Amino acid sequence: MKVPLLDLKAQYATIRDEVKDAVDRVISSQYFVLGPEVEALEAEIAAYTGAGYGVGVASGSDAILLAMMERGLGPGDAVVTTPYSFFATAGSVTRTGASVIFVDIDPVTFNMDPGRLDDLMVGLTKNSTSPVTAGGETVRGVMPVHLFGQTADMASIAGTASRFGLFVVEDAAQAIGSRSPAGNAGAIGRMGCFSFFPSKNLGGFGDGGMITTSSEKTAEDLKVLRNHGSKPKYYHRVVGVNSRLDALQAAVLRVKLKHLDAWTEGRRNNADRYRSLFTERGLVAPDGPVTVPIQTEGCYHIYNQFVIMVDRRDDLRGHLSRADIGTEVYYPVPLHLQECYRYLGYNQGDFPHAETAAQRSLALPIYPELTADMQQYIADEISVFYGGEK
Ligand SMILES: *Cc1c(COP(=O)(O)O)cnc(C)c1O
Repeated sequence: MKVPLLDLKAQYATIRDEVKDAVDRVISSQYFVLGPEVEALEAEIAAYTGAGYGVGVASGSDAILLAMMERGLGPGDAVVTTPYSFFATAGSVTRTGASVIFVDIDPVTFNMDPGRLDDLMVGLTKNSTSPVTAGGETVRGVMPVHLFGQTADMASIAGTASRFGLFVVEDAAQAIGSRSPAGNAGAIGRMGCFSFFPSKNLGGFGDGGMITTSSEKTAEDLKVLRNHGSKPKYYHRVVGVNSRLDALQAAVLRVKLKHLDAWTEGRRNNADRYRSLFTERGLVAPDGPVTVPIQTEGCYHIYNQFVIMVDRRDDLRGHLSRADIGTEVYYPVPLHLQECYRYLGYNQGDFPHAETAAQRSLALPIYPELTADMQQYIADEISVFYGGEK
């Protein structure tokens, strides 16, 4: 049996005709950048997340960059985020000229540990008066990441943020449709940043992204910034970027959005099935070798990834690969240890939970079209690797 990490062809087979009609509609209109399809998608994502407004941009990375630009971030400013995420989380902050400050993750959820965020801010205020500074930089905001599709502990993070006057921007790139007691992903902070990269739960046929916000003014400012700061046309009060969403992407995404809830349910069922298959085989920690992801109280996890933690991770990965089972390591090097961030002065050992996750995490196939037989095969092969019976 062959099981890829993700099978977008299987998904496309179920929506081929709808997608082709939508693409034809755009081609007939010859309206390719922004325009009515993008506006319709913006309204639909705004409604889907409950945020109020949506602004379509060229990628999830640009969504973060533009959110930071909208906050006026630049040299001398700093944003607090997690060291265990896709590079763009920190990279898009750095591109504004601002600094990043990391706080470690919670080892169970992989998301920013709100207690450590609070400790950091309390520690910084001891040495300075408001605004809170770190090494001469002003700490302006916090960007939690809803990693793998589960919302961070937003109630606690927002509490700390408001006490210290920080803005909150959510990196919701992996979390469309995820919900928590504090609200829906993308509708909690000042802005939410989504990615439509093909491997995300709502993926286009190329790059794409969106910023959600409950502020009409912020939405308007973002629309100016994504189009070179041009308003009215050819008049520039600010310098923006070219980061617009294509109509073709919007048309494809509008088709897929109608199926998203059903696909999310498929992922969630697959996650439950993994947990039972692993339990049946005695694989689940602490008695077995596999720590399975959990859904925290009151959260609705959308499982962009199903990430287990194991010893001998790379050997297991090799074993599964020889059995034709696709897996991935998200992420092998935490951000504070990336070469480009050496200047920030962090060292190995600074964020032990992020470093452990980087060594022990393994993403298994979780896409909605995955079959029960495939999951059984994967559970069997993991069991074989750790010396158990099939
Ligand atoms: C995918 C992703 C991004 C960036 O999105 P792109 O559309 O690939 O630019 C940012 N943050 C996280 C956590 C992501 O997973």
